[in-house]
Amino acid sequence: MSNGWSMPAVDALRASAIGPIADFDADTTPGFRGDKDAGTRLLSERGEVLADLQELLYANGRSGDHRSVLLVLQGMDTAGKGGIVRHVGGMMDPQGLTVRGFGKPTKEELQHDFLWRIHRALPPAGRIGIFDRSHYEDVLPVRVHGLVPRSEWEKRYELINKFESDLVASGTTIIKCCLVVSKDEQKKRLTERLERPDKYWKYNPGDIDERGYWDDYLEAYQAVFDLTDRDAAPWFVIPSDHKWFARLAVCELLIHTLSALRLDWPAADFDVEAEKKRLAAAD
Ligand code: AMP
Ligand code: MG
Repeated sequence: MSNGWSMPAVDALRASAIGPIADFDADTTPGFRGDKDAGTRLLSERGEVLADLQELLYANGRSGDHRSVLLVLQGMDTAGKGGIVRHVGGMMDPQGLTVRGFGKPTKEELQHDFLWRIHRALPPAGRIGIFDRSHYEDVLPVRVHGLVPRSEWEKRYELINKFESDLVASGTTIIKCCLVVSKDEQKKRLTERLERPDKYWKYNPGDIDERGYWDDYLEAYQAVFDLTDRDAAPWFVIPSDHKWFARLAVCELLIHTLSALRLDWPAADFDVEAEKKRLAAAD
């Protein structure tokens, strides 16, 4: 491939291709040979391709096609999920996007099963939905902190697979990206949040406590990849110490996903020639 990728991002970043997450190096750019400048330049070019594909999806949705795309973003605090929403989502038409973040479940959400709030947030026809955290939180912090008994969270992997299979069968293409930041880089980013008043809002004192569970989180993420990475709803693991690379990678993965839908512009549901004549004759 001539644009800097030595291998398609879908192959270089697939969870099954990267080995144990505990040995993963977040300071790498798998499959991409270029540097930051090349990556940034390529991202702005590829962003236009992505925007065109999104418009095709939206146009088809407006014309009765029921398909949609769901991008699930997971990753530790500071991994850059918000940056993906802003910088990759930001390259597309906001009309065609639905963005949802998932925090600690509310009282109401806790009265329902863990997929209840997820169902309600799914993208409508023609849209790309972005989840900033997702149903996977229910097997990540929930597992790490034992928020429900093991017998409960253990069942969730199968429930998630079933939920995602049904979703795919009903026309939603799912792509799951885990942004991986190294422990050192996370410390730098947390430090920055404490040094800059414009970043205080992102800081949460609990993030330092969560760092204490780093290895438990890695184990919980490994279980997620082992049990829920399937061709129908694949996981990609994205080294994110370099923000430019994470953004480029997610952009490429979305382009791949949208291209696979083989969308075409919807045919006119009116007589084009007759309309031209009417318009020519109009005042
Ligand atoms: P943020 O993404 O920074 O807004 O933080 C949201 C917080 O909510 C994180 O600490 C998540 O781990 C937590 N969270 C999200 N979903 C769940 C869940 N289902 N159970 C427990 N904690 C959750
Ligand atoms: Mg946070």
